[in-house]
Amino acid sequence: MSDPVRSVATVDRWRHLRRWIAAGAAIAALVGAVMGTWSAAQAPEGDRSAGALGNRPGASREPDRPLPDIRQYRPESTLVVAQHPVPRARYPVIDIHSHQPAPISDEQMRTVVASMDRLNLRILVNASGTSGERLTRSVAALREGPFPDRMVMFANVDFRGVGPGFGARAARQLEADVEAGAVGLGEISKGFGLMTRKADGTRLTLDDPELDPIWATAARLGIPVLIHTADPPEFFEPIDFANERFLELALYPNRRFPAGEFPAFETLMAERDRLFRRHPQTRFVAAHFGWHASDLGRLGRLLDELPNLYVETGAILAELGRQPRAAHAFFVKYQDRIVFGKDSFQPDEYPYFWRTFETADEYFDYYRDYHAFWKLYGMDLPDGVLRKLYYGNALTLMPRLPRAAFP
Ligand SMILES: [Zn+2]
Repeated sequence: MSDPVRSVATVDRWRHLRRWIAAGAAIAALVGAVMGTWSAAQAPEGDRSAGALGNRPGASREPDRPLPDIRQYRPESTLVVAQHPVPRARYPVIDIHSHQPAPISDEQMRTVVASMDRLNLRILVNASGTSGERLTRSVAALREGPFPDRMVMFANVDFRGVGPGFGARAARQLEADVEAGAVGLGEISKGFGLMTRKADGTRLTLDDPELDPIWATAARLGIPVLIHTADPPEFFEPIDFANERFLELALYPNRRFPAGEFPAFETLMAERDRLFRRHPQTRFVAAHFGWHASDLGRLGRLLDELPNLYVETGAILAELGRQPRAAHAFFVKYQDRIVFGKDSFQPDEYPYFWRTFETADEYFDYYRDYHAFWKLYGMDLPDGVLRKLYYGNALTLMPRLPRAAFP
């Protein structure tokens, strides 16, 4: 079948053709290299990934329509995954950080308790603490009202105008307030440290020794001190597009603590930690995870160092829900040191907490766009940890609370 003469001629022609193809490819490669160098020189920084020969697809394009602002862009998620909303907590809950009228009327109490029952909130701690005659009236309103076992009062101290003798006087008052029925001290507000002034006009530091008798009295009486220090670190940073709380800071001028006008975040943290260290017998509850919820390693080191420190969960849910695995590990490791608190009493917001703590749900909505522009993931906490978080640790901190309703 084969024709040897014709075969040789065909091979010769192929050799020729291959030579031409090779030459063509070399020219094309040269042109390509020159063009590539040229386009790389024209392309803005970041349009090429390291080691790539060409630009990223679509780099340097401009949109052909106006872009939404950060509050308008609300894409509907196309993710289809199991959904387990939790309208009611799995176990009865003590909220150690609530703000309620003091005194509260029977009418107001009925409204609040109806919401509490739906959510499985068993006891609210009214951390809008007060003292003296008003505290006595507030405690009486609860004890004589329709739900005597559903809300308790904290005492508080007005830290304005501290001078010689202030600490001893405030400590005596605190003792009288606990005698009158207060079960803790707080919420000591962020004003303490940030702006409260002494009688001499200087800023009252958190670790001012004049206040030592107050903390010592809290230890002797066995009551916890709920203290809110500073605010999220972003509130102390420049308000630019790199700031994660940009929208919130744009909405709330009173949440800005610019350097120069206010002590720095770290100054306040250092004063706070010295206060905690100096009173190892006093049990402090750092509200809002001490504003370290976005740095759980740091908070863990603080809890390791200070056995008298507890932390409370108010207003930091978005931080936990964006790191569900790290948060799970943290809640397991420090399961005896974390108490549930919500702060602002908005009943429809509690189920977001229950869902984040109790489920393994993925990528679900948070309730405040200015706290977080991201979605939440469930932490899937074990039962034993949930019980301590919801009521066990609060009962340890406040042994005078009614215990009957807890499993
Ligand atoms: Zn509060």
